[in-house]
Amino acid sequence: MAQISINIKEGSLKKEEVIVGIDLGTTNSLIAIMDAATGNPKAIRDAEAYAIVPSIIHFAADGTVTVGRSAREHLITDPEHTIFSVKRLMGKSYKDIAAYQHHFGYKIIDDDTERLVKIKVYDKFYSPIDLSSLILKELKQRAEKVLNCKINKAVITVPAYFNDAQRQATRDAGKLAGLDVLRIVNEPTAASLAYGLGNTIQDSKTIAVYDLGGGTFDISILRITSAEGSGDFFEVLSTNGDTFLGGDDFDRAIVQHWIEEHGLTESQLSATERQHLRVLAEQAKKHLSTHTHFTEQTDKRTYSISRESFIALIQPFVEKTIACCKQALKDAQLQVEDVETVVLVGGSTRTPFVRDSIAAFFGRPVHDTVDPDEVVALGAAVQADILAGNQKDMLLLDITPLSLGIETMGGLMDVIIPRNTKIPTAAGRQYTTSIDGQSKLKIAVYQGERDLVRDNRKLAEFELTNIPGMPAGLPKIEIVFQIDADGILKVRATELRSGVEQHIEVKPQYGLTEEEMAGMLLDSIKHAKEDMAMRAIVEARVEAQNMIDTCERFIEKNSRMLNETEIAGTRNHLDALRSVLASENKDEIHQHIESLNEFTRPFAERLMDMAISQAMKGKKL
Ligand code: ADP
Ligand code: MG
Repeated sequence: MAQISINIKEGSLKKEEVIVGIDLGTTNSLIAIMDAATGNPKAIRDAEAYAIVPSIIHFAADGTVTVGRSAREHLITDPEHTIFSVKRLMGKSYKDIAAYQHHFGYKIIDDDTERLVKIKVYDKFYSPIDLSSLILKELKQRAEKVLNCKINKAVITVPAYFNDAQRQATRDAGKLAGLDVLRIVNEPTAASLAYGLGNTIQDSKTIAVYDLGGGTFDISILRITSAEGSGDFFEVLSTNGDTFLGGDDFDRAIVQHWIEEHGLTESQLSATERQHLRVLAEQAKKHLSTHTHFTEQTDKRTYSISRESFIALIQPFVEKTIACCKQALKDAQLQVEDVETVVLVGGSTRTPFVRDSIAAFFGRPVHDTVDPDEVVALGAAVQADILAGNQKDMLLLDITPLSLGIETMGGLMDVIIPRNTKIPTAAGRQYTTSIDGQSKLKIAVYQGERDLVRDNRKLAEFELTNIPGMPAGLPKIEIVFQIDADGILKVRATELRSGVEQHIEVKPQYGLTEEEMAGMLLDSIKHAKEDMAMRAIVEARVEAQNMIDTCERFIEKNSRMLNETEIAGTRNHLDALRSVLASENKDEIHQHIESLNEFTRPFAERLMDMAISQAMKGKKL
């Protein structure tokens, strides 16, 4: 459930922010969100129901920039100004891609002063970051239009093999597109998250995610553990792959096949002809996923290919992916039989030969129930939802080992971020003052699983000061715990009515050994029963005290509207409640709270009705 908080200053309802999941692909990109209504992730579609946005950008001579399907048409008509596969250039230097320059129809510039590659379009230079940000902007706008709200936060996926420079470049592209990139997630991990939602592989332990896209291949071996009561635990055992292997290679192999068949040489072909062949080859490949033969007549020649010839062409590539799978298994110290589930990701897994080869290698049917084109974006949306704090029962690798919370009335531990929450994370709660005119609030931060803070570990303490004088219960003090990816906890306290704010930083795990953490957990289990009983008593006492304070104020404020019997009777009940405050019996306390409630209810309601009718007359009470 998304929370709705009220912005006191503006008086507006602030909807919980939407965090989108983005698959920024070499070939295709998608944006997805968690659908609150169904609890399932869904890809965002355009007016024509297309979820896929080709990662292609076209620069027209008049300065118009188009992204996606309309840009793709220009691959043939205007290849020089149509940028594709920009993801291959992310975080790369010219040296890195020199050998592949001929695959791009556009100009890649060897800029001596710049370490990273640039692309020249007309007389302007663009970095791969600039270009990727254009794709991200398109996705962002699409989502904003469909969801009718601003999108500022995203989770973006990258191939498992992206190095730091490439990941950073992806982050920068996000920033440039106006997106706060909360997390960069490996595509195979995202895919497994998308499957983690379904119950189909709930009891599986070891999963292989085989992702063959347009430009990259990844194999990841994951372990999913269903921990009783604390959700699923995802662990990446090993990854392998090739950043230069994918469906594009299939297309090129077909182009090469046709070039040879017609006795042409590549240099004989113009850029336009090459692109046209490329597009035709992809068409042929897709056609062969459902048919056994492809033929296309152009004005000059006939291009045809059978499924058998196609298989012969791509066999070396598929074998290469299987070699990667073997290596990944070896790294995970597993045999092929240990893999219980095989998940297929990426458009190229629609090629039956790929699917069959992988099923044969792993010796079991493959999982392809989630659309292989969408599965990564859907998983990114799941990840986004976890970051938004909406999924309490899903846990991943970086988790908080112990609960974090603050001390509330009666010395109770109020957990704000529960143990095993994936980080980075943020969570908050509202509190108020208990004394009229209270100007300070002590905020003590604790770590641990016990119900009383005295049994937990104190991490920090600070004071929110300068709270403007207000009656007890009126200030709205929001306490937000935020843990960043490095495990740093930031605690912020804000009095929402006045905007008074105070914050501190703590490193929760600092100084705690594994044994100490384990000890704290064991303790909490050992003392669970007495802790629960103690908490119940403390809560009853706090409730009773609140009740007493409220009633006292109520009588004081409304004495004119109450008769003698009502006032005296309330006082009697209050005294009785006070006399049991120290009781060790929570039921006794509750009984007295209840009878006080019973007694005051009739006239409390009477006064409430009066207040409402007065308010409706527009008068201030
Ligand atoms: P990326 O992750 O690299 O962006 P995708 O997962 O979107 O790539 O996959 C794109 C690749 O899938 C392209 O090479 C495309 O030609 C290929 N592809 C899409 N549909 C099919 C199909 N029906 N049969 C075979 N290959 C396909
Ligand atoms: Mg992909």
